[in-house]
Parts: sequence; C-alpha cells; structure tokens
Amino acid sequence: MIYFDNAASTVIVPEVIDVMNECHAGLYGNPSAIHTSGRKARVVIEQSRRSIASLLHASPSEVIFTSGGTEANNAVLWSCCKDLHKKDFISSRLEHPSVIRTLEALVKYFDIRVHYVQHDPIGHICLDHLEELLQGIPGTVVSLMHANNEVGNLLPVKDVSGLCKKYGALFHSDTVQTIGKYDIDMSKLSFDFAVGSAHKFHGPKGAGFLYVRNGIPFEPFITGGGQERNMRAGTENISGIAGMAKALELAVESMEENRLYIEGLKVFLIASLKEAIPDIRFNGDAEQHSLYSIINILLPERADHDMLVPRFDMAGICLSSGSACSSGSSVGSHVLKALGRAPEDPSVRVSLSRFNTVEEVKRLVEVIKSMCG
Ligand code: PLP
Repeated sequence: MIYFDNAASTVIVPEVIDVMNECHAGLYGNPSAIHTSGRKARVVIEQSRRSIASLLHASPSEVIFTSGGTEANNAVLWSCCKDLHKKDFISSRLEHPSVIRTLEALVKYFDIRVHYVQHDPIGHICLDHLEELLQGIPGTVVSLMHANNEVGNLLPVKDVSGLCKKYGALFHSDTVQTIGKYDIDMSKLSFDFAVGSAHKFHGPKGAGFLYVRNGIPFEPFITGGGQERNMRAGTENISGIAGMAKALELAVESMEENRLYIEGLKVFLIASLKEAIPDIRFNGDAEQHSLYSIINILLPERADHDMLVPRFDMAGICLSSGSACSSGSSVGSHVLKALGRAPEDPSVRVSLSRFNTVEEVKRLVEVIKSMCG
C-alpha cells in the first residue's frame, strides 16, 4: 500500500508509540489526584507542556491541551463570542469546517457578524480587501488558516498579523497543517490563538493543543473540572499528550531535513505529471506559496471521473479526493467550489510525508497516466 493521505492523518512513529505505551502501562493515576500515582502522571503532563511550549517559543502557560484541532478551533471562536464579547469576525470561504461551521453556528447563538475576505482565483487571501474590512470594523477577530488543508496555499502570516496589529484585531490561525513543518515562533509571529493536532505530525489521534497568547482573558469551552488551570475541563489524555510532545520534538528536530526531502518529492511529482500528461492542472497555488507536502491535482476532462478514490485504492494508493463525485460523498469540497471548480471536476489531493519515496511517486504518476487514457 502506498500512503499519500498525510494531510488527513499520519503514521505514528515507533518512538512515539514507545512513549505512549510507557504511559499506558505505568501512569494510571488521575493527574488531578495528590497521591504519588497522580503526581507521577501530572509530572508527565507538565513536562510535555514545557516541551511543546519551548518548541514553539511560547510560555507553558500559553499551551492548553485539547482533544485535537477541531476542539481547539471551537474553543477559540466560542470564547471570542462568550467571554470577549466580540461582535465581528473576518474569515474566508476556504477555512476548515471546524472554523466555517463553528462560525455559522455562533451566528445562531450570538449577535455576531461574519465578514468573508475575498480571495484570488488560485485561493490567496486578498490583503487589500482584508485591510478594507479591518478599517471598517474596529476590534474584530480575524480567523485565517496558515496552510489550506485541501490545496496547500500558505497565508502570508506576517502581513496578516501586521494588519491585525494595525487595526487592533485579534488573530486566530488554524495552524493544524503547519505545526511541526515550519519553525513556528510564537514570540515573533503575532498569533493570538493557534492550534495543533498531534496526528498530523506522526503523533496520536485525539490529542491536540490550543495556544492562547498570555494576557487574553480566555475562559473554558468545556466546563466541569479544574484541569488545564481551569481552561479545559476533563481528565487529561496522558498518553496522547506525552505522545504528542514526543512527536513534535522529533518533527522539529529533523524539520529542515524533512522539508527538503518532501519538497523534493513534490517538485518531482509535479514535473513528472507535467511531462506525462501535458494538460494536467493543479488546484490552488501548487508551485509557489504552498505547503511542501500538499498537491491538489486536477485531472484532464477526458479522465474517467467516476469513483476516483476507490480506483486509486484498488491500484494500492491511498489519497483523498476534493470533489463530490469521486469521493462518493454527497457533499463537494467547499474549497474547490470557492475556487470555481465544478463538483464533477476530477480532483485528487496527494499529501506527502517523509516516509514516501521516489518510487511511490513514480507509481502514482503511472496510475494517473493510465486514468487519463
Ligand atoms: N484544521 C485543519 C486545517 C485540518 O486539516 C484538520 C484536520 O483535518 C483540523 C483542523 C481538525 O483537526 P482534528 O482532526 O485534530 O480535529
């Protein structure tokens, strides 16, 4: 099996499994308990927090553990409404559902407005329009993702955070796809809120974190316990948290090496596809300001559109689709729709990791070529 669906989830590396197994076997005390067994578990949680904070150049008090990226995004947006009493949000039509759908839900519960910033035909946010919106609406919250999980486009974070500062807006960025892939320095990048999810960087599912800049009066989204310094109730997922800290440590340790390797595979895939299928196209800004691990491919019209993902699967390749018809789902990709693609356009997302090889990329190109007749 060839696995090209790393933006959806990644393999857990053995070093992380070892750390998690040690926790499962030895740390059964409740970390809130004050006896020896509870304190042992607490130590591991706080060590993990310090490690993650230091890898992000943040303070440990700025890191709150969650069940993943979805919860963290929900927590930020809910808190902005109920605790910070924000009335206006600026976001885009290209965000992950955990942002778009949450904002849609919040409109029903609070007296808030969501303003959608325009994007260009390849999916980059229009900074002039963002500035225009910020100028007209003081004290807003900007929620824009760092890297788009479907097409890979990267946000010009420094420009956006500069504008947020200039107009007194809070800046939330869904950084799920970029944590562990770029040097994210919270002391320099002016995020007020950012989020991470361990299973995107070779850690476990069900473990994530929320970064909240010190000084922002954040209140819990999940209530009913004093865990996470009263910021997130519920007994902590100790093995998940320790596994996430280990996974992030490994990702950051070999970040540059991984980036060069994966970027090389992406460049090779794009060049090979162009050579094999001259009318191949890409969704988003595949060759410029794009996450090095994601490529969204638009197959030529003559390609058989039906059941694309199952057909790749039968050829031994796991990847994901962007369009309704080929995924078998009844809902198309809101991102590709916003970029002007029709639901029947045959698009597939290939997302790479350091465990992919040139041979696997060659096999993918062969399979795609055979589908294009
Ligand atoms: N945000 C982005 C950009 C994602 O790609 C994902 C996962 O696909 C999430 C949020 C949700 O993260 P989780 O799976 O940890 O809930």
